[in-house]
Amino acid sequence: MKSGKRRSDSGLEDDACAPSVAPTLRAADGTALYVHLPYCVALCTYCDFFSVVAGDTSRDVDGTVTAILREAQRRGPTAPRTVFFGGGTPSLLSIDELTRLLDGLDEHTGFRASAQEVTLECNPESLDLHKARALRELGVDRLSIGFQSLDPSLLATFGRVHSVDDSFAAFRAARDAGFERVSVDLIYGVPGQTLDEWERDLARVLELGPDHVSAYSLAFEDGTPLTLAVERGDLERLDEDTELAFFERTRAQLIAAGFEPYEISNFATTDQRCRHNEGYWRNAPYVGLGPGAVSKVGDVRFGNPRSVGEWKRATLADGFAATWEEQPDAAERIGETWWLGLRTLDGVDPSHARAVAGIEETPGEPDSAEREARTLEDQGLLEHVAGRWRLTPRGLPLADAVARRFLNLDAFRFPARDAAPGR
Ligand code: SF4
Repeated sequence: MKSGKRRSDSGLEDDACAPSVAPTLRAADGTALYVHLPYCVALCTYCDFFSVVAGDTSRDVDGTVTAILREAQRRGPTAPRTVFFGGGTPSLLSIDELTRLLDGLDEHTGFRASAQEVTLECNPESLDLHKARALRELGVDRLSIGFQSLDPSLLATFGRVHSVDDSFAAFRAARDAGFERVSVDLIYGVPGQTLDEWERDLARVLELGPDHVSAYSLAFEDGTPLTLAVERGDLERLDEDTELAFFERTRAQLIAAGFEPYEISNFATTDQRCRHNEGYWRNAPYVGLGPGAVSKVGDVRFGNPRSVGEWKRATLADGFAATWEEQPDAAERIGETWWLGLRTLDGVDPSHARAVAGIEETPGEPDSAEREARTLEDQGLLEHVAGRWRLTPRGLPLADAVARRFLNLDAFRFPARDAAPGR
């Protein structure tokens, strides 16, 4: 069943195969749609997303829009329930480019009539009132704005090209254009940052009245300029106790302000959870378009090359550009559902995890994932509440390590049904 192992940028190991099944797959109606727009003004020092500098001679946004629409025609989902434009910096596209992209996607998928949520990621330097109004008219109903920090020196450390004032102006533009759903992205736990400074900055963000905040502990990804600076000794990471204090005080401050900590790094006011991301955390299918984008259709996960030129050539030739695919086996599928779900406040329903994996229910017999959960319960890291498993307050700061325990489950304990991917 398994035709390849998993890739590192989903937190798993590299060793996937060239696509053989994926080209025949068509996502079911309603499948979530992700569109990757890879252009940025400059590359941030902490970032390992696939993006290219917009000023490069290779920049051909018009050609990228054409290729995304070709992909959408070939394998875009009909009537997607959610749409997410990520990157890169989608707001960097001109209004004309965005109009062609969204009109074309609607023609191929009908998303304007079907989607319960259409999010577009923005950076402060490329969102003004004129563009925000245009986005509303094009069918976007939620903006996620990358503030990252309110400290000018940290913005410089990150290599961000916008100012603090730009961030406030972008937020005001979003509200003035009529966006009721606006999320702010922030990063904390940065070398040189103090807890007091962070709490003061977070309070200033909360005064704006966002309905959603994504607050990420700074990650040091392999090979990024920030990680290299730490390796050279030019920057010193915060110690573990201080990182833990940042995590706990961030959570406490946002909860006190009325936000629900519905995922380890994501906080929402009432009914303002990001529905698109909730689908990922439930291990639901999705279709990704654009260079570097990943799709999951049925049990098959496949991905486009992280090269604009390679992706574009293949897409324009036949509408399909994926260079790898993997078909996790039943143990891997259930492990992924637990791995993803344990990061959420709702936690994991074992029956749902079995159903996603296509695993038989054996009455009275816990599967390997549940046995792992019970071990972690004994260690005080997980709790079983109303039929669902979730992290305890003690397990929350260890979410990554706890969740990863489910990625190496005993395959012999999972009698899989004959599960056919949705072709
Ligand atoms: S703007 Fe976003 S995608 Fe672009 S380099 Fe910075 S963090 Fe990465």
